[in-house]
Amino acid sequence: MENYVLNNGVLMPKVGLGVYQMKNQHEDAIVWALRNGYRHIDTAAFYHNEELVASAIQKSGVDRKDIFITTKLWNSDHGKKTKQAFETSLKKLKTDYLDLYLIHWPSPKYIESWEVMEQLYKEGKVRAIGVSNFERNHLEDVLKHGTIVPAVDQIHTNVFLQQEELHQYLVKNQIQHVAWGPFGHGNQQLFNHPVLKEIAEKYGKTTAQVMLRWNLERGISVIPKSINPERLKANLDIVDFRLSQEEMRRISSLDTNKRGFVNPNNKLMLW
Ligand code: NAD
Repeated sequence: MENYVLNNGVLMPKVGLGVYQMKNQHEDAIVWALRNGYRHIDTAAFYHNEELVASAIQKSGVDRKDIFITTKLWNSDHGKKTKQAFETSLKKLKTDYLDLYLIHWPSPKYIESWEVMEQLYKEGKVRAIGVSNFERNHLEDVLKHGTIVPAVDQIHTNVFLQQEELHQYLVKNQIQHVAWGPFGHGNQQLFNHPVLKEIAEKYGKTTAQVMLRWNLERGISVIPKSINPERLKANLDIVDFRLSQEEMRRISSLDTNKRGFVNPNNKLMLW
C-alpha cells in the first residue's frame, strides 16, 4: 500500500475504506478488506459503527498498529464535549490512540474543538489531527487561532465536483486533501460517463478505477466505500497505470462544480 506523508511526517495510506452506512451485517466486508490489503479505515462517531470497525479489525488478525484509523468528531459534540467524544470513540474502537481525528463539519464551535484536538495531539493520544468539509474561510480561521496546521481536509471530491480552487489552497498550506464520495456516492452518471469509459477501456480498467487514479494523480487520497469483495479489490488495484496529461485535461473539463450529494433517501443534500 502506497502512502502520503502528512505535514507532521506521519504516513497515511493513499487508499482507505470508507465505512459510511456499514452495519453489523457488513462486518465480513471490512474483515475481507483488511485481509486483502486495506490498511486505512475511515469511520466517524456519526456512522455509529466504530464498534463494528473494532470487531472487524480484531477478526481480521491484522495488527492494530498496522492499520490507520480515522474517526471524526460529530457536530453535537463540539466545544466542551470534544474530549469526552474523543474518549468515547477510542473506547468504541477498542484502541488507546487514533491515527487521525477530524472535525467532521465546521459547526459553530469548531475553534474551541480545535484547541482540544491540539491538546489531545500534544498528549500523544492521536498521531494527526485534521478537519473535514472545511472551506478556505474555515481553514484560515483555524490557521489564525490555532498553533497546529491541520494535517488533512477531507472534502467531497469527484469528477463532477473537482474542488480545484480549494485543492490549490490545501497544497499551498501542506494540508493533505482526502476525497470523500469519490464516486459521487455511487452516481451512475459518473460510472457511465463516455470520456471515463473511453479512458478505462484503453487501460483495461473500469471507470471506477480511472476515477480513483485521477485523484491519486492529483495527490489526493481516496476512501471509496464498497461491501463487495470484487469492487473492494478493484478499488485498490489502481497503482499499475498512470493517466496522461491529456487524459487529466479531458477529465478536468467534466467538472460541474455542483455541490451536494444524494442521500440514502435519494434526496440531493446541498450545503
Ligand atoms: P462513494 O463515492 O465511495 O460511493 C460508494 C458506492 O459506489 C458504493 O455504495 C457502491 O455502490 C459503489 N461502488 C464502490 N466501488 C465500486 C466499484 N469499484 N465499481 C462500481 N461501483 C462501486 O460514497 P460514500 O460512501 O458516500 O463515500 C466514501 C466514504 O467517504 C464514506 O464511506 C465515508 O467514509 C466518507 N464520507 C465522508 C463524509 C464527510 O462528511 N467527511 C461524507 C460522506 C462520506
